Amino acid sequence: MSATVLDGKSLAQEIRAEIADQVAEFTRKGGAVPCLAAVLVGEDPGSQVYVRNKEKACKKAGMRSLLHLLPTETTTGELLDLVARLNADRSVHGILVQLPLPRQIDETRVLDAVDPLKDVDAFHPENVGRIVQGRPRYLPCTPHGIRELLLRNRIPVAGQNVTVIGRSDIVGKPMAIMLMQRSEGANATVTVCHSRTKDLPAVTRQADILVVAIGKPKFVTAGMVKPGAVVIDVGINRTNQGLVGDVDFESVKEVAGQITPVPGGVGPLTIAMLLHNTLAAARLQAGGA
Ligand code: NAD
Repeated sequence: MSATVLDGKSLAQEIRAEIADQVAEFTRKGGAVPCLAAVLVGEDPGSQVYVRNKEKACKKAGMRSLLHLLPTETTTGELLDLVARLNADRSVHGILVQLPLPRQIDETRVLDAVDPLKDVDAFHPENVGRIVQGRPRYLPCTPHGIRELLLRNRIPVAGQNVTVIGRSDIVGKPMAIMLMQRSEGANATVTVCHSRTKDLPAVTRQADILVVAIGKPKFVTAGMVKPGAVVIDVGINRTNQGLVGDVDFESVKEVAGQITPVPGGVGPLTIAMLLHNTLAAARLQAGGA
């Protein structure tokens, strides 16, 4: 039997509509219009699409959005200057530095320079530390979107075996940490797999929920999935056949119980959660909780 497809696109629209209502209420009560400043260095076509989509989504939710486009040859110092200006600008509530940055830029220095209160991607060590300790200020957008997808589809997580493939700072690592916390939508038994994992299929076949964030087209095949498992595909790979995920959707959907598509799965939720964090940032900077 074919798996149920988890529709991230419709869910993201629902969440974005909720956020738009919350923004309207916040500003009606005198709050400043939440503002996200996005910084894009260079001309990576994928990054340009992401940044423009984020900009459009902000505007649709009633938020302000500023786009800073910098040339490929920008130095670390120049980018740090811009970040300092955005940190000091009281009308900017969230700062997003689109990754990847060109090679000559010291990415860690730049991300560490973002004011933790404006760090809507939750990359700053202070915000990461808070997540690890189970008292998050912001949750990183992609794992946050996956959490919402699981919660709102009433997929049980507590006590389940969850395997995350990938240990990036953006997806795999925070996802694993969030799922093991003692909190709503978590309490899972989490296994993290990566490029050095031995006999990956033997590990992934134990998973009730499998989160895949590797960046390799159609890497996860049917034989790696436990029958009835929930499969969350984070991958976005541009191939000759268009956008594909890290999961071989056609074969895996015959084994899995529920599965996210690419496109239309995790991607739209990531943007929705960025809006969530930008509103949260505006509230925090207004002195609210
Ligand atoms: P990354 O390249 O930083 O990390 C990849 C991870 O995969 C590494 O930790 C590595 O150990 C692991 N890996 C690589 N080969 C492996 C193998 N053969 N077996 C097991 N593990 C292996 O990746 P990332 O930034 O986490 O992105 C992963 C994918 O998710 C990419 O396709 C990216 O475009 C996509 N992505 C999507 C969204 C979204 O909103 N949907 C957000 C972020 C990233």
